[in-house]
Amino acid sequence: MRGITKHGGFFLIFILVGMKNIDNIISSDSANDSAKKRRRDRFEQYIERINQETRIIQVAILLGYRKLKPKKSLDKYSRSIKILCPSHKEDTPSCSLDPFRNIFNCMGCGTGGNVYDFVFQHFKRMNYSDKLARQKTAKFFKKNFNISLSNEK
Ligand SMILES: [Zn+2]
Repeated sequence: MRGITKHGGFFLIFILVGMKNIDNIISSDSANDSAKKRRRDRFEQYIERINQETRIIQVAILLGYRKLKPKKSLDKYSRSIKILCPSHKEDTPSCSLDPFRNIFNCMGCGTGGNVYDFVFQHFKRMNYSDKLARQKTAKFFKKNFNISLSNEK
């Protein structure tokens, strides 16, 4: 009987210590979560700015896609045009740029997305790692449009 009570006491302490730890874990998790959420919000605003302030065709010109398919300058195009995919190797252009929705979509490999995704795929295709491709993409928007994660309005 005494043995059980003793064990019970230890067990209670164990639970209390355990709960305190759980409390700590929960509060640090929610701190992490809000930091994560802020980062995510900031990134979403960044993408939003890129989508509003840049045009996918203009971006394709800057990345050197002009010489690939269309004879005239890309910015003269008023409807969607095809270029060689930024994401997979091909000889016949199967990637459409949609100037109205400001997106791209490849019939060949299924890759598509917004202006940011286009630039990211472009660098990713050059065998950069995800991290490096993201850095290159960030540099591209900073250099050409002065849009960066750190200078949000
Ligand atoms: Zn493709």
